[in-house]
Amino acid sequence: MGGTRATLTREAARALDAADPLRPFRDRFRLPPGVVYLDGNSLGPLPAIAVDRLLGVMEAEWGDGLIRSWSAAGWIDQPTRLGAKVARLVGADDEEVLVADSTSVNLFKLLAAALKAAPDRPVILTEAGNFPTDIYMAQGLAELMPGVEVRTVGRDSLASALDERVGVLLLTHVHYRTGEAFDMAAMTRAAHDHGALALWDLSHSAGAVPVELGAAGADLAVGCGYKFLNGGPGAPGFLYVARRLQARLRSPLAGWLGHAAPFDFADTYQPADGLKRFLCGTPPILGMAALEAGLDIMLDADRDALFAKSQALCDAFISAVEARCGGLGLELVTPRTGPRGAQVSFRHADGYPVMQALIAEGVIGDFRAPDVLRFGFPGLYLGFEDVWRAASALQQVLASGGWRDPAYSTRAAVT
Ligand SMILES: *Cc1c(COP(=O)(O)O)cnc(C)c1O
Repeated sequence: MGGTRATLTREAARALDAADPLRPFRDRFRLPPGVVYLDGNSLGPLPAIAVDRLLGVMEAEWGDGLIRSWSAAGWIDQPTRLGAKVARLVGADDEEVLVADSTSVNLFKLLAAALKAAPDRPVILTEAGNFPTDIYMAQGLAELMPGVEVRTVGRDSLASALDERVGVLLLTHVHYRTGEAFDMAAMTRAAHDHGALALWDLSHSAGAVPVELGAAGADLAVGCGYKFLNGGPGAPGFLYVARRLQARLRSPLAGWLGHAAPFDFADTYQPADGLKRFLCGTPPILGMAALEAGLDIMLDADRDALFAKSQALCDAFISAVEARCGGLGLELVTPRTGPRGAQVSFRHADGYPVMQALIAEGVIGDFRAPDVLRFGFPGLYLGFEDVWRAASALQQVLASGGWRDPAYSTRAAVT
């Protein structure tokens, strides 16, 4: 990656982009002109085909097909059909992934199922500073299930906090704020050595970095459809249950679509065989159609090349920012080398207004309290010239002090 080092010029960046075999994928997204979009880790951009697909589903399937489309257009099979597509991105078998509900709800379902199956192991162990919904859902369950406790410890103490009372080790593979990644296989092994199950949150991993749930021995996983999978705002999430566990675990949300025979309309719940027992209610078909557009683009790409490019973009951004913004108050948070996601974070004491000023310059990243500027680098639609532009804009905003304009300090509802 000599060409992406500290000296990255606009010309060098353009040359790298011109030689990039993934370059054509950029045209499959509707990115507004002039914007450098570095927040695809929070909300992926609009896939161009999603517009036609949604119109088709609305007009032909909903409009003309009406209720018939549940069978004729295969609506009822969307959770398993799309699940099989996600499975290819996370190293799972087709019958191990469902697209359903939100990540938060899926966390609830899998945590409760795991705890219920091992009543002598009532502890959920998770990382202090994990994404809030992961901790909150665990805390909510602890209020609901007598005896259940949530144990949160620092990253380095997780392995030593495993004991015979831990039923589930709940970890987010790529940390949302720092971008640091766990060694999934090693942490899963540590959980198994103590008789616990490992539940992985892949919200910042699926579509961003290689994930091999099967090879890592992972038991359970959840993840998000609207980040790196580009499924649209509020896209359904996904869940994974290793095949060996599917018969043993039961969803606490015994909705009718998880029933063995939903259209028998029986009075008594009986879970479906296999993964379908983790369905709850009616799938959101329009949201599913948008998510499928995002998945199909991702599945067309050479994923080794894609993930390698995302890492190269992260490296190039770190080098360019360090070369241009020395002494301007930034501190790298993301690991410089070693396992990490497709995102780069810098700490800055005035991170919020700095990010607002940067967004005003057309470079869209986000801010995570208390002081983190976060930049996502999905290789599917970004290039090295975007890196160059982002680093230049950041330098300009910091060096000019333009971020001190009071307009940039008013907090929006979503940061
Ligand atoms: C984004 C994210 C979620 C989102 O959960 P929702 O239920 O979709 O709001 C969950 N976990 C992690 C780690 C995330 O980054």
